Amino acid sequence: MTLALETRAVVKKYPAGAGTVTAVDEVSFSLQRGEFVALVGPSGSGKTTMLAMLATLLRPTSGEIIIDGQDLTSMSQAERTRFRRRRIGFTFQANNLVSYLTGLENVELMLRLNGELNAAGRKRARELLVLLGMEERMRALPRQLSGGQQQRVAIARSLINQPSLVLADEPTASLDTERAFQVVETLANLVHEQDRAGIMVTHDLRMVEFADRIIHMLDGRVERTITPQDDLVCLADPAACTVIPMDTLGFEGAGMAEPAG
Ligand code: ADP
Ligand code: MG
Repeated sequence: MTLALETRAVVKKYPAGAGTVTAVDEVSFSLQRGEFVALVGPSGSGKTTMLAMLATLLRPTSGEIIIDGQDLTSMSQAERTRFRRRRIGFTFQANNLVSYLTGLENVELMLRLNGELNAAGRKRARELLVLLGMEERMRALPRQLSGGQQQRVAIARSLINQPSLVLADEPTASLDTERAFQVVETLANLVHEQDRAGIMVTHDLRMVEFADRIIHMLDGRVERTITPQDDLVCLADPAACTVIPMDTLGFEGAGMAEPAG
């Protein structure tokens, strides 16, 4: 096994009024290549902040983040940007697609930024969009696409540079059940088959079945990590679940998708 990611006592404080709010509080965990992890927890528990730090979009107040053996905190701004483009793929709740480019062009843009828009890259862009069920709509502009379709373009974009680390914040928030399963299964398969590391923030209980492990955050901390297959079975069938109190996991109810927010 190869270590893809390690966080050591990562803290993020935001200014709030005269003081600060601690959004992430000494979070340490690691992720192997080929591992797909679900990050769960109630609203405000620090999931998005954690993901944004892993994406190098936010700097930790303290602690270390090591991706592919490289310490992000010791990099200059320019180094971090280059590292992000090459090694990290992410989708956040706001998709931030470029409005005047088609879905396909939005995906290809990421290749262009790396100077790698060649035939092989173009082919990969189309293949990814097909895998994500966007075969028919890849030449439409973002405003001509539904929220779920935009989300799938963003996911294809996050994968196009074959990143070591794939990060997705609520990737299924605007998808119907069938699409949600398809998208998460595709993400999980790509992580497994291509030996990447993936973290998905989700509120949707049904999606954790694709995860190899569940990291549960509460009040900025890792409340618990759920690994054994038994517990996954328990999560899939909450009625029979005596091990994990469901209300602490941040899910609204069994089998219910919660809207983003
Ligand atoms: P989650 O994604 O689990 O809902 P967030 O990471 O968005 O959690 O937020 C964690 C905490 O940090 C919350 O208390 C939130 O209000 C606070 N927070 C998040 N972003 C900011 C910000 N830009 N400025 C100040 N406080 C923030
Ligand atoms: Mg969030």
